[in-house]
Amino acid sequence: MVKAYCVKCKEKGVTMKDPVINETAKGGFMAKGLHEKCGTKMCAMMSKANADKAIESGEAKKGPKAAPKKKA
Ligand SMILES: [Zn+2]
Repeated sequence: MVKAYCVKCKEKGVTMKDPVINETAKGGFMAKGLHEKCGTKMCAMMSKANADKAIESGEAKKGPKAAPKKKA
């Protein structure tokens, strides 16, 4: 279960609807989804272990990995 804080409802630990987990350029994991109740976009930082678990269990989709910035 991917959970996050909803800024609109001011509620902690609400379940994220349709979460997509992206690996950030810094090697962290960020889940993005919606609060089912109000439709507000939420995001949460995750550990690699939790991100892998959520993706493997089918709770979350894996998003594209952030491309490292290249020098022009
Ligand atoms: Zn909400």
